[in-house]
Amino acid sequence: MTTTIYPARRVITMNPSRPDATHVAVRDGRVLGAGSLAELTGWGPHALDARFADKVLMPGLVEGHSHVMEGALWRYVYTGFHDRTDPDGRRWPGAASIADVVDRLRDAERRLDDPGAPVVGWGLDPIHFAGGRRCNRHDLDAVSTTRPVAVMHASGHILNANTRALERAGWLRAGIDHPAIPLGEDGLPTGELKGPEAMTPVFLDVGLDRAVLAGDEAGLRAFAKLCVRAGVTTATDLASPLPPDAVTMMLAVTGEDAFPLRVVPLLRFLGQTPEQAIERALELRALSTERLRLGRVKIVADGSIQGFSARLRWPGYYNGAPNGLWYTAPEQLRAMYRLALARGVLVHTHTNGDEATELVLDCIEEALAAHPARDHRFTLQHCQLADAAQFRRMAALGMCANLFSNHHWYWGDAHYETTVGPERATRMNACATALAAGVPFSVHSDAPITPLAPLFSAWCAVNRVTSSGRVLGTHERIGVPDALAAITLGAARTLKLDGEIGSIETGKRADFAVLDADPLAAAPEALKDVPVWGVVQGGRVFEAARR
Ligand SMILES: [Zn+2]
Repeated sequence: MTTTIYPARRVITMNPSRPDATHVAVRDGRVLGAGSLAELTGWGPHALDARFADKVLMPGLVEGHSHVMEGALWRYVYTGFHDRTDPDGRRWPGAASIADVVDRLRDAERRLDDPGAPVVGWGLDPIHFAGGRRCNRHDLDAVSTTRPVAVMHASGHILNANTRALERAGWLRAGIDHPAIPLGEDGLPTGELKGPEAMTPVFLDVGLDRAVLAGDEAGLRAFAKLCVRAGVTTATDLASPLPPDAVTMMLAVTGEDAFPLRVVPLLRFLGQTPEQAIERALELRALSTERLRLGRVKIVADGSIQGFSARLRWPGYYNGAPNGLWYTAPEQLRAMYRLALARGVLVHTHTNGDEATELVLDCIEEALAAHPARDHRFTLQHCQLADAAQFRRMAALGMCANLFSNHHWYWGDAHYETTVGPERATRMNACATALAAGVPFSVHSDAPITPLAPLFSAWCAVNRVTSSGRVLGTHERIGVPDALAAITLGAARTLKLDGEIGSIETGKRADFAVLDADPLAAAPEALKDVPVWGVVQGGRVFEAARR
């Protein structure tokens, strides 16, 4: 039983009873106390460790919506619009046009030895290209006509395939009549595939299979490195099919002494009956360990706004695009919520469009009438277009929200000009309204959709600046303290882990983000630039990888 006391430039505890401290004492991986040195020495013999004396400690950041898959994606070709840093700290430049994307994929193609090997890219974001030009199979045929070529969009909800990949997946035929598979003038698919049903055959063919989606071992380790670099000590995997072999792997890897992260994977509700999904969630919950928290469920109700696959209420998309897709039938939602409430399983539901949010609120209201439950914390993920009335309903129903603030920077201009238009773009991810309505909330990256970095997500909620410099909704901006609460206790609350993590106080896990500057002293516009040194996770110290 060793006690270590760390002096720091400042300890931001997020504990409302004692928000500031100069020292924190750690024993057995937990916080013994935060206060002055004199107060903490009262606990008896201790070692004084001064390595953080000039650092600022805050509670380990909690990424409430990310996908472990990002770790594995870095072995494929990054084709996103914005520059991005990989798990080892290397910066990759963005691709500004379809020609750039094709060039980059061709480079990768030339390096392949196996003549049958596929070429796989990720992060494609055509909404930023001149004229919003979409990629088609002919573009990707310039990479190869003999290999399958598949490129996942930044949203994760759309995939582009070349002619060979469509052929191999069985999609290259006339007469397909499916909203998820748009056709070109020749009556054949354009190569854009929307939603899991259309994408899965291509995914499987090019090796983006269950192992990758569930996070394979190398991917999980790479993902943890990204987390350390971002000050994150708990991250969700939202969501995973969680097959038994992946769970076994995750238990082993997260159980290693040198593994720096607590992972909270949510079981994806897809392809099972509600009964099967809830049974499986309960089985998984029983396997939970300190660094692998199982037993929660994720449902996806609609698609993405910038992919025009989200379900919007009247008047729909600003540019007149047809309404999006339902990913889960309303009867399935109702059955899942009823069963989950009855069995005490926490459910998070992806709703991007406000029609999806409305439907889910209706279904949860009905389910709660049948199975009244206190403190269920059912959470809406993204919930980007919810209006004030919907936030009031969430509050009344005891729900939480996790808002996608990173959208302001990455797609805010597109939302203003193209997808939802000026008024709804200024209310997107309405953090101030959530606060006013009393809905517990967090903000997130949805990595790999945008880079995992809670301080950046907090910066987005505070400043609401788009990449062109437009401020999108001054009235929905929140202050830095509220934004820091969102990325610590806020996210912990959505996971029902706020009794254990999210603040630095006696009895909680010794999880700290170790910062080189003070986020509360920084200018609000500089919050994203606060350098992260690394983390302390369960009392163990991890410095970020750098290049
Ligand atoms: Zn997601």
